[in-house]
Amino acid sequence: MIDLLALDEPGLVALLARWNQPAFRARQLRAWLYERGAASFEDMTDLPGPLRTRLAAEARIGAFVVTAEQQSRDGTVKRLVKMDDGQQVETVLMPYADGRRTACISSQAGCAMGCVFCATGQMGFARHLTEAEIFGQAARFASELKRRGERLSNVVLMGMGEPFHNYDAAVATIRRLSRDLGIGARHITVSTVGIVPGIRRFAREGLQTTLAISLHAATDEERSAMLPVNRRWPLAELIDAIREYTEISGRRVSFEWALVAGRTDSADQAERLANLVAGIPCHVNAIPLNPTRGFDGAPTLSADAAGFVDTLTRRGIPATVRVRRGIDIDAGCGQLHAEVQRKERRAHG
Ligand code: SAH
Ligand code: SF4
Repeated sequence: MIDLLALDEPGLVALLARWNQPAFRARQLRAWLYERGAASFEDMTDLPGPLRTRLAAEARIGAFVVTAEQQSRDGTVKRLVKMDDGQQVETVLMPYADGRRTACISSQAGCAMGCVFCATGQMGFARHLTEAEIFGQAARFASELKRRGERLSNVVLMGMGEPFHNYDAAVATIRRLSRDLGIGARHITVSTVGIVPGIRRFAREGLQTTLAISLHAATDEERSAMLPVNRRWPLAELIDAIREYTEISGRRVSFEWALVAGRTDSADQAERLANLVAGIPCHVNAIPLNPTRGFDGAPTLSADAAGFVDTLTRRGIPATVRVRRGIDIDAGCGQLHAEVQRKERRAHG
């Protein structure tokens, strides 16, 4: 089976040329895939019948199937998708009142970085996803939205996995989101745990994508305890790479900071964070911890979250508490996957 989403424009042209189709068929097919949101080959009514039959027999749109789906009260849709080899990843669509439609997509099955509070980190690493598997998650949402007269406006690479551990596929995905789905780089965010060579390389891609860095702690001791990757690239090196990134790209960065009650949510912590990032054009996203089974921390109280952000703001650092979406449906990174695995284990014995 040929996954049409794995083919870029020249690839699609070449496939149809091999099938002795005139060149304009590739344009028609691309329009169905990326502009008109066709769900199946039967929908592609301006393609000749025999071509539709051959496509249905030899090709498909996206290399995965949706195996579980939950919809939150706030409209967030979270699904588990299964790849050909059985690996499952999470992919989320978040509708906002202002009309934005944001997809949160996964870059790996599992994750090798082992952050202690993260459900994906707790499950370990299975494998990298291919560009087509990453891109396909967004393309599927884009196509479904098109059919309802809506448009996928934003994409965040913040699902399962560490994008800069799967660097080439992640960056190729970003380029295709713009080229094929018309989502401008400024509407795409890639989040990294702090892989320093990846940050330095990304600075040189000439992309206007937003870079988010998972900071979560302002001293090496605390950060290494939460994010083992900090032992490899400690804060001084990380901050240096981020400064270089902002200078080369001319972009501000986002810092992510999980608020864990009594640990990372004090005014004192906010002061230390302010000192650490002083002079870097940035925005801090403070995210109340999503509780996970493997970590004993509790989410911060909303008054403490507000205090944390106030301290940063007074120090001249733009900061907001990120609204938690889909909190009633395991919509934290890796949580639906973990829940389904538990259910499957119970079912099998
Ligand atoms: N691997 C990348 C992107 C995926 S995780 C990264 O770590 O940046 C997306 C964000 O969710 C990261 O900032 C991560 O630290 C955060 N996160 C993971 N588990 C969380 C939890 N249980 N509560 C709050 N934030 C969490
Ligand atoms: Fe991996 Fe990001 Fe989770 Fe850390 S927070 S384990 S890097 S997915």
